[in-house]
Amino acid sequence: MSNQAWLQRSFAAVWHPCTQMKRHESLPIVPIAGADGVWLTDFDGKRYLDGVSSWWVNLFGHGEPRIKQAIKDQLDSLEHVMLAGFTHQPVVELSERLAALSGLGHAFYGSDGASATEIALKMSFHYWKNRGHSGKTRFISLENSYHGETIGALAVTDVPLFSSTYADLLKPGLRAPSPDARQAAPGESAADTALRAARAMENLLAKHTGEIAAVIVEPLVQGAAGMAMYDPTYLAELRRLCDRYQVHLIADEIAVGFGRTGTFFAYQQAGIVPDFLCLSKGITGGFLPLSCVLTRDDVYQAFYHDDVARGFLHSHSYTGNALACRAALAVLDIFETDDVLAANRQKAAEFTRRMQPLAARPEIRHFRHCGMIWAFDVETGRSDFALAFFSAMLKRGCLLRPIGRTVYFMPPYTLSNEEMDWLIEASCAALDEVLAGGAGAAGVETRLP
Ligand SMILES: *Cc1c(COP(=O)(O)O)cnc(C)c1O
Repeated sequence: MSNQAWLQRSFAAVWHPCTQMKRHESLPIVPIAGADGVWLTDFDGKRYLDGVSSWWVNLFGHGEPRIKQAIKDQLDSLEHVMLAGFTHQPVVELSERLAALSGLGHAFYGSDGASATEIALKMSFHYWKNRGHSGKTRFISLENSYHGETIGALAVTDVPLFSSTYADLLKPGLRAPSPDARQAAPGESAADTALRAARAMENLLAKHTGEIAAVIVEPLVQGAAGMAMYDPTYLAELRRLCDRYQVHLIADEIAVGFGRTGTFFAYQQAGIVPDFLCLSKGITGGFLPLSCVLTRDDVYQAFYHDDVARGFLHSHSYTGNALACRAALAVLDIFETDDVLAANRQKAAEFTRRMQPLAARPEIRHFRHCGMIWAFDVETGRSDFALAFFSAMLKRGCLLRPIGRTVYFMPPYTLSNEEMDWLIEASCAALDEVLAGGAGAAGVETRLP
């Protein structure tokens, strides 16, 4: 069957996420028939370079043979068993290895990122309740934060497009200013900006002492709000403040964990350890849904009791799925055998060098980089910039999905220099076209009846 047939059937039967479906009257949905490495292939044989690792999950390209083989091997012994009252080898090994990597010895599993956020928020609140501080019912998150879109996670998310419609359903949280380095005043360094934001956080904590259970942050890079990057000093200060005001620090590393910012976990760049660590996205290299919340022994002990209701009450049917855990173990193996962090350091330096002509373009502001993430803001009056640029890139065989006027690259770690050059050249050509007024949504060939 052709692209045309699949996209029509998808348009009719599948409600696509994060999408105004009506837009697909003019912007075609891309039906993918297969994928290999950094390349996606549609049903007409056209290829697209996956420059965003399929929503940031696909760390080592599509179809990575070692992850694939690990899942096949696991299929022959155990696909799944419920984790209440039962356990299995992959979940035990994964929990031990994540504990060794993070210093957080207790792992609780879910299946998606938003659930990990929910688990961390509930666990923090319940910890304080078990310790006799039941007044700690509120959470602080940062301006421009993103922690998922279930009702609890959305309450700590600060992306108005996603949250304002549902505001009446959400328990209002507290917001602290973002340490976003783009907000530096003239003469201010990124570290100064971070310290200024930390002082604002301290004021908020001081004002609400006794009400706050936890502060939740995306370490180093606020992803979904537009790749806002900040100095590690902020996390060091935040750790100090959380200790001082008796508040948990939740590190949401759903996007930035697994080497994305250059270290295995982003918080390691600040020399701290959070109280809760949320992981998902890259954890299985993009093969299977899995999420995990890690926490320290003191938290675990607060729940350890004869009373059932003092135990942590949360469950998902697929908790600790054996296939997903086995895929995650294969991901950890690849980090070791390929020395991924060291390889990425070299790669990132080379990619940044190759991007200089792009970064120097006059319409580009705040070109920024952290580990294997690059982003820049485009100065344009076009309100449809994101859609127009996305279309212009698709035409050129690339998948990039800007957030507002921010273009970012978050490629699989296996991207080659030649593939990066191709992405950069396509981006320059797409910028030329879009800024000259082309590639509007209306300019795309209409392929639906
Ligand atoms: C993607 C993301 C989430 C939500 O994960 P889902 O699996 O999409 O629910 C939460 N926090 C951060 C930082 C994310 O990037």
